Amino acid sequence: MHPSIPHNSPWITSADVNAVSKVLESNWLATGPKTNELENVFANYMGEGQAVAVSSGSAALFLALNALKIGQGHKVALPTYACSALLNAVYMSRAEPILFDCKEDNFTICTDSLTNYSGKLDVIIAVHTYGAYADITPLKKLNISIIEDCCQSLGSHVGTEPIGIESDCSVFSFYATKNITGGYGGLVWSKTQHITNTIRNYINFDCCERYIPRFNFSIGDMQSALILSQLQRLETIRDRRIHIANCYDEALPSCLSKQIFPNKNSEMPYRYVVKAKNEKQIEKLKSHMQTLNINCIIPLETYELLHRYLGKDPNMFPNAEHIAKTTLSLPLFPKLTDNEIARVCNALKTFRL
Ligand SMILES: *Cc1c(COP(=O)(O)O)cnc(C)c1O
Repeated sequence: MHPSIPHNSPWITSADVNAVSKVLESNWLATGPKTNELENVFANYMGEGQAVAVSSGSAALFLALNALKIGQGHKVALPTYACSALLNAVYMSRAEPILFDCKEDNFTICTDSLTNYSGKLDVIIAVHTYGAYADITPLKKLNISIIEDCCQSLGSHVGTEPIGIESDCSVFSFYATKNITGGYGGLVWSKTQHITNTIRNYINFDCCERYIPRFNFSIGDMQSALILSQLQRLETIRDRRIHIANCYDEALPSCLSKQIFPNKNSEMPYRYVVKAKNEKQIEKLKSHMQTLNINCIIPLETYELLHRYLGKDPNMFPNAEHIAKTTLSLPLFPKLTDNEIARVCNALKTFRL
């Protein structure tokens, strides 16, 4: 029996360990010079604007909504095929979520349903799902604020630009399973200084002359140093992930399809999500992989769909329902060895319905 291949695993190098040790030796553990440096390097990576590093992607979403003055009585458009962190951030802001179905091919928010929607909306959260680009261009015509959720797409490009620079603000996560990680961590990026200043003011609660309710959503310098160290090898991470996805593409049997990344080699896959025609077929693929000791997961279970959590009619969200029931995510992370990649490819090639 071959050793088990995990579905995901972080990639920590000796440079990362050194970066964290240096912070420990410096005695500056709270938000400090390393967080500052991370913010500067990140803004530089984006090519313009400002970055504020925070405690998580969830906090980044809430802070972005808050800085855009979203609160009670406001309506936030979200894709139903998304992480429940989005719903949490909307409710934390006391706003109301309005859910939309996703596209069948790349799993991102259905822009046609959004542009045809006749009700009031105050902001749209567009998720670049598993690194796939959610088309922002048609959304911009609606003249509503847009938050790009880049928690799964750091490293993806749109043309030659890094993903996330098209909207009012973008949010990133550095949670343990993401493309780059500090264990926990998040970041808000914006071209508008007023937005990043509002966020800084909100999280810096100590020693303020005038009291307004604020909250500690800060990140520490150990985490920032770890994130910064990994950010420095983002190109390597990018090349490796794209390489692995290209290998799987070649091995994918004709009875299966996958989440489409139309801008191949500019979008960076966070997940490699295989699609079957029905539930039975995906069950079969899952047990085939299990037999070969390759760990795969259902990337988003049907019960996790946001409209299910809110008790809405599933028939209103046919694409998300179908995707949740017929997909499986294969191991995709930079630390996968060539041998492990070959094992996954062989498993795909030998799969029969
Ligand atoms: C992970 C994730 C979040 C939440 O980030 P945390 O750092 O875990 O709070 C939000 N949105 C998406 C799309 C994510 O994948």
